[in-house]
Amino acid sequence: MRCELCGEEIRGRAYLGVVDRAEMILCEKCVKRASRVYGPLGQAATPRRPVQRARPPRRLEEAVSEEVVEDYARVIREARERAGLTRDALAAMLGVKVSVIRRIEEGALTPPIDLARKIERVLKVKLVEEVIDERLGRRGEAEAWEETLGDVAVFKE
Ligand SMILES: [Zn+2]
Repeated sequence: MRCELCGEEIRGRAYLGVVDRAEMILCEKCVKRASRVYGPLGQAATPRRPVQRARPPRRLEEAVSEEVVEDYARVIREARERAGLTRDALAAMLGVKVSVIRRIEEGALTPPIDLARKIERVLKVKLVEEVIDERLGRRGEAEAWEETLGDVAVFKE
């Protein structure tokens, strides 16, 4: 099974979640981007419980994070057109739905890092930049991460 947002083969748990009002099968990384999560797939019989977020990447401890550039929508659209690719062709190359490409080019959906990296390779553009936040020490990051735990909407059966 593949993640419908980043196109990666899902190795861990797969989730059904809503990203930008569209239901998609999501990997553990991309499920963080979902506005609503309908729990792990294939585990309907298990008791309800909050969806676990992936552990913070080791990089966070170093206060270095990767971010997608702000004008990703324009960068991707222009590079795609320069390469003479249709949205369908680009979506096929990346293994994602064409609706994902459309939303990204409209600026409505920031691509997850995995997908941004793939787009970089396919379109030969720079999309991911490393951001060093000196304000965040180890404790600060742990707290910032805790806060994000609160914003997962959990679907109750
Ligand atoms: Zn994914």
